[in-house]
Amino acid sequence: MCNSQSIYIHIPFCLRKCAYCDFYSETRLSLISDYLKALEQEIDLRAQLCGSSALPSHGPAPIIDTVYLGGGTPSLLGVTQIGQVLQTVRDNFRVSPDAEITVEINPGTVDSDYLTGLKGTGVNRLSIGAQSFDDAKLAFLNRIHTADEALKTIDRAETAGFENISLDLIYGVPGETRAAWIKDLEKALDRKPSHISAYMLTLEPGTPLADQVKQGDFIPFGNDMMSLLFKMTSRYLTQNGFEHYEISNFARGGANRSRHNSRYWDLTSYLGFGPGAHSYDGAVRSWNHRSIDGYITDLSSGRLPVADQETLTLEQKMAEFIMLRLRTLEGLDLDKFQDRFQLQFEKKFEIILSRILGEDLGSIENGRFFLNLEGRTFLNGIVETFSAEIL
Ligand code: SF4
Repeated sequence: MCNSQSIYIHIPFCLRKCAYCDFYSETRLSLISDYLKALEQEIDLRAQLCGSSALPSHGPAPIIDTVYLGGGTPSLLGVTQIGQVLQTVRDNFRVSPDAEITVEINPGTVDSDYLTGLKGTGVNRLSIGAQSFDDAKLAFLNRIHTADEALKTIDRAETAGFENISLDLIYGVPGETRAAWIKDLEKALDRKPSHISAYMLTLEPGTPLADQVKQGDFIPFGNDMMSLLFKMTSRYLTQNGFEHYEISNFARGGANRSRHNSRYWDLTSYLGFGPGAHSYDGAVRSWNHRSIDGYITDLSSGRLPVADQETLTLEQKMAEFIMLRLRTLEGLDLDKFQDRFQLQFEKKFEIILSRILGEDLGSIENGRFFLNLEGRTFLNGIVETFSAEIL
């Protein structure tokens, strides 16, 4: 993990659970201060394990150039607390002066003073969980905020001086019409965000929404409608100046892509802190306990809160690399594949490739294999086909 250039920090607190969410989060906000102590210990401990080369006064060492505070709801922490977390990172790792530092913000949890204060801590990118600008849709999703609060949060973030703002939106909510979804996108574009993440609603087992479906309260959209909405989203945002650079992500120009998430799609190493957080060093993936209580107990005894780890086989890495790269606009670089796996991609997957190319779902151009928009609607099936060939 010591070769990582990216750090993810999980802030596992939420005011209440959204109906579709299966992320690990806690509503016991009274644990925040104990949690932050434990988090500081984890950052400290991992930096020590990486040796002195991770420290700012020593070098050379990989320079951290992305830090991402996700959740949960990181904006439930005070500005001083976020500043302290970032300072702990800077005290323990070499952080580039122009690192991308992102914090996820939930509308309804922040005001103008908060956002101005946040800017002062060095945070330079906000990911605002607007999800929709339709009150009925927000209520259905059990979000804590209204459409008006989401819009005001974006305006306040701009006034506070944030230029790099990403909006999270969800589509495919039962009963949602195509016109209603386009209206959501229009309202998002009115605010001129630099980045949009548009997620298809998925029904994760054990969530209230999945239970409602089981009880017959509503019927979710099928694949056809979801594919239609996906393609519509891509075309609409592309026509409005965004590049569809990853299956759910759109940037207003290459400079506005999420540098942090792009690392994941490249299968490069990263360090994750907090309950449930994963770390990867290019060979071993490890993950922390999901429970905040177990996390705090381990760290208070000086132990890393690791639940388990696995060493990825070459085949697993290959399957993951293909899965991640096919999510992206650029797709898979054939030379990079050969360097990583000592295999010629076109030879190894000749039959699968001829089917994909024959059905006009993708192309090979300029040394890259990528799926087109139609192909990306079949992403899961295509990835499964590659995996079945490898594993
Ligand atoms: S705010 Fe985010 S992490 Fe918290 S419950 Fe809602 S979707 Fe899940």
